Amino acid sequence: KFNTNIGQHILKNAAIADAIVAKANIQPSDSVLEVGPGPGVLTTRILEKARKVTAVELDPRMAAELTCRVQGTPAERRLQIIVGDFVKTDLNKLPPFSICISNTPYQISSQLIFKLLSHPTPPHTSVLMVQREFALRLIARPGDSLYSRLSVNAQFFARISHVMKVGRNNFTPPPQVESSVVRIEPKTDRPAISWDEWDGMLRICFVRKNKTLRASWMATKVRALIESNWMTWAAMHPEKVLESDIAFLQGQQTDDHDGDHEMKMDTEDQDQEQESDDDIDLDFFDDGKPAEKTKHSVKADNKGSVTIGAHRVPRVMVTKLIIRKIERILETSGLSGARANKCDENDFLRLLYTCNEEGIHFS
Ligand code: SAM
Repeated sequence: KFNTNIGQHILKNAAIADAIVAKANIQPSDSVLEVGPGPGVLTTRILEKARKVTAVELDPRMAAELTCRVQGTPAERRLQIIVGDFVKTDLNKLPPFSICISNTPYQISSQLIFKLLSHPTPPHTSVLMVQREFALRLIARPGDSLYSRLSVNAQFFARISHVMKVGRNNFTPPPQVESSVVRIEPKTDRPAISWDEWDGMLRICFVRKNKTLRASWMATKVRALIESNWMTWAAMHPEKVLESDIAFLQGQQTDDHDGDHEMKMDTEDQDQEQESDDDIDLDFFDDGKPAEKTKHSVKADNKGSVTIGAHRVPRVMVTKLIIRKIERILETSGLSGARANKCDENDFLRLLYTCNEEGIHFS
């Protein structure tokens, strides 16, 4: 009866359903969005409290079952069921909602959370059932073993609390993994920075979260990505390229570092880098998205030169410039020896500001 391929594990413990709805603290004026209502275990309880419920359900059979369940009851006209994939649903086309409640199909947890949080008017409270480990990653703090890009991003947007553990046997059929309910409240005072830049930088930081930032940013593939991003940025904003950078590219400025970055690396980092550089996969991350945004790339001509601003410069000098920039960024931000798994939000913010000052962008 249930299609576990699309996460159909129905909550059978009424006390847990009651507790989830209670944690959302629904007021009579609230409109609630429910993602994946299934046969309506949560929906009927939400309808007792909310002004209106919009439920987005992928499976038409489940939507039909829920329709039957409310038919002829006073709640019927306060429930709108939309049959479709929530991931593809445009939030602007849904009726406004102030709260989101979902026993979320686990495959879409991450997309659901960031879709809600990046909405211009996110729900003030979301109470979501997620996989236990995912919940622990959401709330992990710097230094915790589960601290990851997901933790930094989620906590950048929101205050997140772990509400309760839910064992597998509270569902029909039981899922493979344990679950947890989390409560998410968006921060209203977050710094005004570009999300794409922020996430783009974190992807690079967490490529090797246990290594020093210096070692991971100097690893050939990561450095090459930063370099290609910089060349694209320079081609798009030639007026913003610093004169001192042009002078350096033309070989008019000597520099202490001058490309000898390997010599400055401590042996431990260098060993790790050489051993692990090959398996750095910049194409796919935990959420399946590529690190590199599709953009035109700047190619060298047959003399090995590229155009930066109004100047032709040797391509090899760009590599030297980027190495110098990475050195400076890490020195100025004081994060050369830091490891992503120990950095907090302020460290990452400082790093991003310093990068931007050097003309290094991530989107
Ligand atoms: N809310 C019900 C409960 O608590 O018992 C059902 C929860 S079940 C874990 C997940 C539900 O989400 C299923 O009804 C499934 O059909 C639906 N679903 C799966 N993927 C979906 C998607 N992309 N968009 C909307 N609903 C989805």
